[in-house]
Amino acid sequence: MLDGKVALVTGGTRGIGLATARALAEAGATVVLTGRDEAKAKEAAAAAGAASGLSLDVTDAKAVSTLVRGVAKEHGKLDIVVANAGIMEDALLGMIREELVDTTLSTNVAGTLHTVQAAARAMMRKKTGAIVVLASIVGEYGSAGQTVYAASKAAVANIARSAAKELGRSGIRVNAVAPGVIDTDLTSGLTEDAKAENIGKTPLARLGTPEDVANAIRFLVSDDASFITGQVLGIDGGLVL
Ligand code: NDP
Repeated sequence: MLDGKVALVTGGTRGIGLATARALAEAGATVVLTGRDEAKAKEAAAAAGAASGLSLDVTDAKAVSTLVRGVAKEHGKLDIVVANAGIMEDALLGMIREELVDTTLSTNVAGTLHTVQAAARAMMRKKTGAIVVLASIVGEYGSAGQTVYAASKAAVANIARSAAKELGRSGIRVNAVAPGVIDTDLTSGLTEDAKAENIGKTPLARLGTPEDVANAIRFLVSDDASFITGQVLGIDGGLVL
């Protein structure tokens, strides 16, 4: 399905990013994954069957640009980029600290933007490519106690929509996935009661797995999705219905 393609996945050391790197590698792509810690990135790359694991902090625009250029140079091209790196910290409105605003926006919004910009630059020459960014259902519908995170993910969805409009004529597709509650480190802080409440509201009656999201991303970056761009695909078991 992805034989001969070169793919980059940011935040690939665990959770959705690791599952995505594995899914793309199993589909035949040459995959490079990143994490902030080089040793963890290398370990994850070995576990995912990826070609390499590199260290990258997506808040650093110059580092993102240099890494993306380097990957495209080493492998001769860059076909697929999954801007997955992200953080989530809950805070009620009255408890939001400035530091939380800064770290959330610089990682989720600026980090995604840096990655999409660098990907577009690398893909532009070949006039082909597929980019997927990680939005969230809370970015589409809001969530009490998650105002900063929800705002950041609404921005991520609109990075995908705007970039899709701008890059379509260059043959580059940009889509977002909007997962519901996926069982990863990011959601490990949820109480059992909160998990049960979410499952109760979900028609498919379970939490999502990283593989549920990875499978959708693998479709969106494949040629099977060649007329799909600017979409925000919910992967939530029907939770928002
Ligand atoms: P995890 O916390 O399990 O993994 C997050 C990944 O992002 C790690 O690989 C981490 O790498 C990386 N990361 C965090 N900050 C940075 C940074 N500044 N620079 C580079 N890499 C960074 O999260 P999930 O797998 O659950 O989430 C992945 C994405 O999906 C996120 O964008 C998240 O917002 C989104 N999402 C998740 C949902 C869920 O329910 N789990 C629901 C909706 C959206 P390391 O720490 O090794 O550097």
